[in-house]
Amino acid sequence: MSLPRFLVPALPNSGLIALDPTESRHASNVLRMAVGQQVGLFDGRGGEAVGSVERIEKRLVHVRIELRTDVDRELQQPIEVICALPKGDRQKVLVDGLVQMGVAKLVPLSSARAVAKPTGNALARLQRAVIETSKQCGRNRLMAIGTPIPLEELTAIQANQESTHLFAHPYGDSRSLAGLSPARAPHLPARVVIGPEGGFTEDETQSLVAAHWTPISLGPRILRIEIAALTVAAWWAIQQDLD
Ligand code: SAH
Repeated sequence: MSLPRFLVPALPNSGLIALDPTESRHASNVLRMAVGQQVGLFDGRGGEAVGSVERIEKRLVHVRIELRTDVDRELQQPIEVICALPKGDRQKVLVDGLVQMGVAKLVPLSSARAVAKPTGNALARLQRAVIETSKQCGRNRLMAIGTPIPLEELTAIQANQESTHLFAHPYGDSRSLAGLSPARAPHLPARVVIGPEGGFTEDETQSLVAAHWTPISLGPRILRIEIAALTVAAWWAIQQDLD
């Protein structure tokens, strides 16, 4: 059984550190941890350690750092998902899955037909989901959540050769993912755009193509936003695990 893990803002090599009030509450009230129990610690920037609970106060749990482990569980070639946010609870499904797949960054997309507006509150909730999933899946680097970007900003500059630029589009002459690999992946980092429930407008599709983004198909069925994003992320992650 893997150790319960807690996020800390900074991770020294040794000594005693206090978990913040949220993580302390999780440790003492939810997991009912006792003095002497082993825990995992990570700093969200790649640092990882094993420690043990030394003191439990009303609001703070203190952990003695025992051993730095610093295991790297990131993808060799990062992928950034630029994605119209789905509605309600499906946003959490999206974030939860992308974190597990090792996605480096999620950027909410604003486009002509996007419905869910990425408000400050929603982004804060997503940030919390990133932490929760990272604790569970052993990821030591937090997936970044970027500031929302309008589609015109993406297409205003030509996609460069230093990363693979894809957008998921069920129509036209989109290429299948199978046809793309392994020539285009995973030797470069990737950026992929997923459209809103209403899809891309014709103008948006044309401007993405004009800016050298490659349209890809994910099969003959129309997938929901979060499933489309996860399909591309899983395809990317699995190719690297096979390397
Ligand atoms: N009603 C929309 C579908 C939107 S699905 C339409 O008819 O265009 C939301 C997004 O998921 C799409 O914009 C696309 O980026 C992605 N997507 C869903 N199914 C897909 C598929 N089979 N192939 C490629 N992209 C897909």
